[in-house]
Amino acid sequence: MSLTGGCYCGALRYEAQGAVRFKGQCHCRECQYISGGASNLFMGLGSEGFAYVKGQPATFTREDLDAPATREFCATCGTHILTRTPRDTSMLILKIGTLDDPKVFEGPQIAIWMNDAQPYHLVAEGVMQMPGFPGG
Ligand SMILES: [Zn+2]
Ligand SMILES: [Zn+2]
Repeated sequence: MSLTGGCYCGALRYEAQGAVRFKGQCHCRECQYISGGASNLFMGLGSEGFAYVKGQPATFTREDLDAPATREFCATCGTHILTRTPRDTSMLILKIGTLDDPKVFEGPQIAIWMNDAQPYHLVAEGVMQMPGFPGG
């Protein structure tokens, strides 16, 4: 699969090649800040196939966690592009809203961090639910 996308203001552009490993929605408390309160839609992609072709992102990593994710986002408009987790450095977690054509996502297969979900969060029928991150 070949994907292109970028942030809302256009300062960041990326290209990604390779297979989509999984498609999901994340209900963790951190994603709630970024999404505006709902879950966050993402796909897991091999990190070797991903490159920024315009601009470089700002990053944020919490210092109070054992294995914190690093979030990459546009310093100008604030759009979150992706997350990298030390749990699996071969993969990155790309935010669906940044794709030039978000329709290619086709919907999530898995809902993760349901332990953090709010009572009003929605999970479609047939989407597998997991309490945390897949594989620990
Ligand atoms: Zn931007
Ligand atoms: Zn999350």
